[in-house]
Amino acid sequence: MLRKGVGHRTTPLRSPGRAERSDRLIDSHGRTIRDLRLSITDRCNFRCTYCMDPDVRFAPPAELLSVKEMLRVVGVCRDMGVKKVRLTGGEPTLHPELERIIAGVAGLGVSDLALTTNGSLLTPEAAARWRDAGLGRVTVSLDTLKPEKMREITRSSTPPARVLEAVEACLGAGLGPVKINAVVVRGFNEEEIEDLAELARIYGADMRFIEFMPLDSARAWESSRLVTAEEIVSRVRARWEMTPLDRAERSETSFNYAFSDGAPGRVGVIASVTRPFCGACSRLRITADGMVRPCLFSRDEWDLRTLLRSGADDAHLKAFLADATWGKQAGHGISEPGFRQPDRPMSAIGG
Ligand code: SF4
Repeated sequence: MLRKGVGHRTTPLRSPGRAERSDRLIDSHGRTIRDLRLSITDRCNFRCTYCMDPDVRFAPPAELLSVKEMLRVVGVCRDMGVKKVRLTGGEPTLHPELERIIAGVAGLGVSDLALTTNGSLLTPEAAARWRDAGLGRVTVSLDTLKPEKMREITRSSTPPARVLEAVEACLGAGLGPVKINAVVVRGFNEEEIEDLAELARIYGADMRFIEFMPLDSARAWESSRLVTAEEIVSRVRARWEMTPLDRAERSETSFNYAFSDGAPGRVGVIASVTRPFCGACSRLRITADGMVRPCLFSRDEWDLRTLLRSGADDAHLKAFLADATWGKQAGHGISEPGFRQPDRPMSAIGG
């Protein structure tokens, strides 16, 4: 549930000096948006401590975008240059019409359609259906291989083995390369870095470690709990000889390594805090309740839902999205004085 006081813009901004192009998603720092992260629900069956309150209140269903609205937004964004769409949540596999959403987005001709999930509900049958509907790739979140720690961090009864079955289901359905993401929190799971990295070798997957970011609803983030990319990489390299890989594209969020011994899989680190990649950011987010967040750490949001429900035509939607993007902040500003954590927690933004 969104706290009061977050800036909601509902009217286009005509900032001086901005090119009058309302058909492209370009920000005032010269970055072009090509990746849309669409949160399709704020609901989740986990209550991860670095993400969501145990007693979270979800938005009323009427406030969430309908499938028709989601597909309209994706269509408009596609026309404005978006090539990749990632479906997120909350937990997107909880959405009763996920297959219809996948088929709808795939039908709009985006070149890359991916899904981020906690894996708890992902079966081989579901993976095959989603693949047939047009899904291309899956990222599965898994922070620990220890059942007791999994219970502690997710506040759920799902064991790590269930999530690994989901990874196998994705591989079986050809939804690869599968990415496995782990948020590393000091005092919680840094001791498991090597064991988690081994998953890359076992499954031929991309095992990516994410630096802990100040986006938790408990607002308990402290820099002392951050395990840096440097520390993560040095632990992995102490176990295996690793070969650094070039970034596939400038906006790629992780920097990656291959095993020098030729074993399958890669290890990557998403170093948002210590090695920010904002300069090449190509992402735009739309929340399940229809707010445009140009940056994960945006302090302002743009109320697209009201516009969608006010009968606005596509030209108006485009102008609105172009203005929202134009005002995108240069970066997250976590290390800058005066940094303030966004009001909206990660669970209501989507990864
Ligand atoms: S923090 Fe914002 S600008 Fe930086 S990479 Fe993330 S979304 Fe992009």
